Amino acid sequence: MTAFLMKTDQLTFEKAYENLQTMKPEAKMNEGFEWQLKLYQSMGCKVDTSSAVYKQYRLRKVTEKYPELQNLPQELFAVDPTMVSQELKDEVLYKCRKCRRSLFRSSSILDHNEGSGPIAFAHKRLAPCLMPVMGSRAQCTSYFIEPVQWMEPALLGVMDGQLLCPKCSAKLGSFNWYGEQCSCGRWITPAFQVHKNRVDEMKMLPVLGSQTKNVNF
Ligand SMILES: [Zn+2]
Ligand SMILES: [Zn+2]
Repeated sequence: MTAFLMKTDQLTFEKAYENLQTMKPEAKMNEGFEWQLKLYQSMGCKVDTSSAVYKQYRLRKVTEKYPELQNLPQELFAVDPTMVSQELKDEVLYKCRKCRRSLFRSSSILDHNEGSGPIAFAHKRLAPCLMPVMGSRAQCTSYFIEPVQWMEPALLGVMDGQLLCPKCSAKLGSFNWYGEQCSCGRWITPAFQVHKNRVDEMKMLPVLGSQTKNVNF
């Protein structure tokens, strides 16, 4: 009912729930469902399975089943970008800096709001003069992404570990089903992080389609 009110009357979750409770004071919803409706609101009152917030939610749900995580639903994984059949459109491709193997696309990056930088790391608080200027963005040194197909063997049956390049085994980053802290201070759960300095960003030109394709003008 609340979801219906949100969608048809274009109300926020709070307002729709309040309206419902005005009509039916004994109406009470559990926390999990409340959370889902807020997610629904952030997706513009439709279920967008390709949005970062949805992917993050789905990953978190899977993590609740840990440690029985012996196999993972395939839809949890982004398609390996080396699969040529996939259209790249105007996405950015990220490659291993060492061997150039394609690792993931920009659509796999699960953005997070930056934490309050050094302040979030209470144990290494900086002197006031070293504090970043108010309003300046803390730097995230990693990309937090959804799992990609090539990671699957590394992720199963263990709680955390390293993420290595599937071709040259260069260390790219790490993962932890219980979460990791970004350099900006924000906790991401679960976390699949790739250090920005281990990958190169490749902008794909929509006209050329694929970078490796030869185009005759
Ligand atoms: Zn590599
Ligand atoms: Zn961050």
